[in-house]
Amino acid sequence: MIKKNRLSPEEYQQNFSDVHPPFETLNAALVEANRCLFCYDAPCTKSCPTSIDVPKFIKQITTDNIKGSAHTILSSNIMGAGCSRVCPVEKLCEGACVYNLMEEKPIPIARLQRFSTDAAIKNNWQLFERKPSNGKKVAIVGAGPAGLSCAHILSRQGVEVTIFEKENKGGGLMTYGIAAYKVTPQFCDDEVNFITAVGGITIKYQKELGKDISLEQLQKNYDAVYLAIGVGMARQLDIPGENTPGVEDAISFIYTLRNNGFSSVAVGDNVAVIGLGMTAIDAATQAKRLGAKKVTIIYRRTENEKPCTQVELDLALLDGCEVIWLAAPKEVITENGKVKALLCRKMQLGAPDASGRRSPVDTGETFTLEVDMIIKAAGQMPFENLINQYGISNSKGKITLDENCATNIKGVFAGGDAVNGGKEVVDAVQAGKDGAKAILKYIGL
Ligand code: SF4
Repeated sequence: MIKKNRLSPEEYQQNFSDVHPPFETLNAALVEANRCLFCYDAPCTKSCPTSIDVPKFIKQITTDNIKGSAHTILSSNIMGAGCSRVCPVEKLCEGACVYNLMEEKPIPIARLQRFSTDAAIKNNWQLFERKPSNGKKVAIVGAGPAGLSCAHILSRQGVEVTIFEKENKGGGLMTYGIAAYKVTPQFCDDEVNFITAVGGITIKYQKELGKDISLEQLQKNYDAVYLAIGVGMARQLDIPGENTPGVEDAISFIYTLRNNGFSSVAVGDNVAVIGLGMTAIDAATQAKRLGAKKVTIIYRRTENEKPCTQVELDLALLDGCEVIWLAAPKEVITENGKVKALLCRKMQLGAPDASGRRSPVDTGETFTLEVDMIIKAAGQMPFENLINQYGISNSKGKITLDENCATNIKGVFAGGDAVNGGKEVVDAVQAGKDGAKAILKYIGL
């Protein structure tokens, strides 16, 4: 049965507490920081999409220069605090650490990064100066990681930045689409405030492109426009029964949970989650932590092709979620207008597809899973209608850019998930940096 308020306040609190607790003391951080070999040509830095100088910031921790360490991190990645919580570090910096070659535990780079950047946010260290205003104005659509990162660099150069955000909070996916036990709502607010405290950035909330504002208005009133609109709702499954109450998309589920409080979110006894990306894992683990008795993840390929990291999968398994490999949804079976079961196809692996992974092929066999709630997490769709409405060049809804991060419309730039279709927060931060550099050149700074 789908119902709210399954647990006591204490249980909610415990289930949604920080999954990666920070170092409690400088000494605890020092023990790990002092293990770093400060490698020349450090592979950890090379594997970071924002090229954070990892050995430098760790060295600064060892000399008790926490402010300097935070500056090193944040000058490459202004969302370094958030990324230290949500980055899949096992496939980025920590996965590249040379200790892995020695079959030893890698340096806990994310926790060290968190140690320094949390201190910066907590103490409100203003580490960056803004140049005097130069009269240039840039509009950014979307206050997610790409938009905030772009805004911060532009404002430091003296540009007046206005961000138009359709929600009532900034942070984008960080605030609305990531598990609450990785980043708390309070942390997300604090991080946005820390970024905008540099000055010269105004965020106008509840202003949606195509509804409250038009691209033409922005072009007319600003020297350049940066589109950081992200991606939208979950991809449809296109199966019978998909619109039955009890079938939800993962982003809406996580959004409600983050926005309305844990006890107000209804969850079933038996939940099926479709997909195995990071969002699917976040939805599955949170359904379990909200009190679902059984959560089953349905994935159409095998473990070898999984899009999430092993660490994420382990987290879901430790929470008691199960995975059925080589299975795809075929039909939502309903009774009295409610979800009763999910009919699934059994799949097998065929030839590699465009992604390089072996593609799932229907065997013709089926099985039925008794469930009362289904969460769809098979990827997100770009805002294709909106993008086409303004004649912005795109490939299946993903905005296409030239080598200067520019769209086909003069003075309109773009970056982040709207362009790449949905990657990590750290990729969006780098896209924002690239966009800002291109815009500064375009407006003659
Ligand atoms: Fe330190 Fe590991 Fe990076 Fe080398 S690879 S600098 S040991 S964190």
